[in-house]
Amino acid sequence: MSEIFLFRNESHSNILLHDVSTDGLAVQTNHHLIVHNKGSMILDPGGQTVFNRVLADTTLVSAGAEVKYVFLSHQDPDIVSGTNDWLAATSADAYISQLWLRFVPHTDIVEDLQHRLRAIPDEGMWIDLNGSDLAILPAHFLHSPGNFHVYDPTAKILYSGDLGASLGCDYRRVEDFDDHIPFMRGFHERYMASSAAIRTWSRLIRTLDIEMIAPQHGALFEGKAMVTAFLDWLDSLSCGVDRLPEEYRLPPPRL
Ligand code: FE
Repeated sequence: MSEIFLFRNESHSNILLHDVSTDGLAVQTNHHLIVHNKGSMILDPGGQTVFNRVLADTTLVSAGAEVKYVFLSHQDPDIVSGTNDWLAATSADAYISQLWLRFVPHTDIVEDLQHRLRAIPDEGMWIDLNGSDLAILPAHFLHSPGNFHVYDPTAKILYSGDLGASLGCDYRRVEDFDDHIPFMRGFHERYMASSAAIRTWSRLIRTLDIEMIAPQHGALFEGKAMVTAFLDWLDSLSCGVDRLPEEYRLPPPRL
């Protein structure tokens, strides 16, 4: 196990759990923990394959703080498939978009635990983590139709889920933004729904005081200059339905 403290003061810490190795085809994932006054929120805790490891790391690095909230940015399997395990092992509530509330139980969440699945309304909400307010912000269609980010005003960190994800780079923090673009471009062009969805999101995000953007896959964007470079790149990106072809054709014949 290894962890990185992204922010720390007497009562508040933000911890990245990394080196949670995944097997075979499974995509690399970052797991983030926000700890405040002996309570914690785990963000996008991952699937069943990493559950034991992430739970053990969470307990260790948060000095036994009570897991109060499980935040699920959207409905993908690398995010929600361990939800039953988290609800069974802790007394936390799990928050997910109202659009996905009735779909997640299909990942085998036992009926007795389902009342601890909570719906996030489309407009977002605030969550009180033992006295620290965390903003759950709408990021719909980036990439899921019911998609949220977490902004922590204490640490000035925006947890951006799949937005900002990079695949295949072997560093933790982006040092050279232009060099980093190839690790993000293909993913964003295909997985993000449209430039309109990005611009609606970025108009709100640019009003916030952000020192770091922390995605669920790949490297972190640290410092205001890097955050701005990332937002500028996104605002100029053509993606999703912007790139939809005029027509589809039948696939090539079988060989
Ligand atoms: Fe996803």
